[in-house]
Amino acid sequence: MQNKKSQLHWTWILIILFFGFAIYSPVFGILAIICMMMPLYFSLTGKGKINCSHYCPRGSFLGKFIPKLSLENTLPDFFRTKFFKNLFFIFMITVMLFSIISAKGDITKIGFAFLRMVGITTILGIVMGIFFKPRSWCQICPMGYASGELHILKNKKKQK
Ligand code: SF4
Repeated sequence: MQNKKSQLHWTWILIILFFGFAIYSPVFGILAIICMMMPLYFSLTGKGKINCSHYCPRGSFLGKFIPKLSLENTLPDFFRTKFFKNLFFIFMITVMLFSIISAKGDITKIGFAFLRMVGITTILGIVMGIFFKPRSWCQICPMGYASGELHILKNKKKQK
């Protein structure tokens, strides 16, 4: 059962709207930056992974629609290792930076790069959710991972 203050019961609408707007005009793909920055913002302001448990549109989407299709297998351990998560994080950031640099300041191309990235990762998340548990994507999600690591770092600093 979701926490009472969690907004996950409706925030899936935002990812549908995102795809609607960004497919209509790729410039809107830039809105993905908000979604990517939210987990980091919450972590840096001491709220830990509240974005994942309360607000994330993609997490909400996977949690709402995929359970009916999911085979509920457990994600292989390898995907949950720090080695894999670090590798995947670096890979995603590199691909994104490369796409942005290749766009040479063209806002439509940059928007399209974000749309493509959100599209591919959402499809990957759906496929993972079908073969494994519905929110398996969240085990490897670069932004979720980064916000968790930031949270740990912040706590360590506090304890010093
Ligand atoms: S792990 Fe990623 S996709 Fe999952 S809820 Fe968190 S930010 Fe969203």
